[in-house]
Amino acid sequence: MITSNKYFLGIDIGASSVKYGWGNCKIGLQYFNKKDLSIKSLSYLKNIISDILNLALSNPIGQNIQAIGIGTPGTIDLKNHQIVGINPNLPFLVNIDIRSLIPDNIKLPVYWDNDANLMCFAEAWQRNFKNDIVGITVGSGIGCGFVQKDNIFHGSHGYAMELGHICIIPGGEICSCKRKGCVEAYSSMDGLRRRISLLEIPFSKTEFSLNVKDLLNLAAIDPKVYRIIEEGLSILAQGIANLSVLLDPEVIVIGGGAMEGALYDWEKLQNKIKECLPSINAQNIKIEKALAGNKAGVLGAIILAESANKFVWE
Ligand SMILES: [Zn+2]
Repeated sequence: MITSNKYFLGIDIGASSVKYGWGNCKIGLQYFNKKDLSIKSLSYLKNIISDILNLALSNPIGQNIQAIGIGTPGTIDLKNHQIVGINPNLPFLVNIDIRSLIPDNIKLPVYWDNDANLMCFAEAWQRNFKNDIVGITVGSGIGCGFVQKDNIFHGSHGYAMELGHICIIPGGEICSCKRKGCVEAYSSMDGLRRRISLLEIPFSKTEFSLNVKDLLNLAAIDPKVYRIIEEGLSILAQGIANLSVLLDPEVIVIGGGAMEGALYDWEKLQNKIKECLPSINAQNIKIEKALAGNKAGVLGAIILAESANKFVWE
């Protein structure tokens, strides 16, 4: 039985920052903070994680930390504990054992999962693990997870639920995965930035630094930008509807930084998803905003670490 004086450390590695915090399943997230990932290198990331561990373990509650949970972008090979394939937002974070991110002198158990899986896990916990939930994050990329009650669905190898890389437009826009026509190429922030950069309009910032507000401001004055964002919404809705037809979840939860910034109109996105569904699915599906916001990855990592006896992958 877990009691509230036992804590778990959650670390959520993102494209621009490393979020962290501690808590447990009983009280949720007790502390949350983040450190900028201003230099994109493995050694810098390891230094940040080392700083976080020093901070957490020297805190008065540090002696009560029982285990560490880590969320990371990228495809995780479950059998080999490795991030594999292409990791577009953190290209240096591939073909490494995730356990190697934690200094050797730290003897706590370490558990890990894809960041979108952990977002979905946190949202499932918020809903008392009662439902089958699909969780989607819209940010630099498109993340997706599927939790059946309290079980994260991984597929045979750990590669499941890559909504961002489902092809919607064969032969369409080039994607970060090097294929064409994926959801991510149209609906993610990076995909939108890339498409808008090809338009002949001047930017006050470099295309790579355009944030959600910049994109919405551009859309308000340029119909071509507006159409690109509308197309991003439609293709995201089609991808989500396809997943819903396949999996028949109780709830689809949508979050991520771009959704918090209202990149896509919430009512329009919900309606579009339902338009793309068979009527029986559309009548029953619940589409909800993420409850845990940008803290979901850390919260999911904490809950994963606490539930670790059920998720040991060795
Ligand atoms: Zn792709």
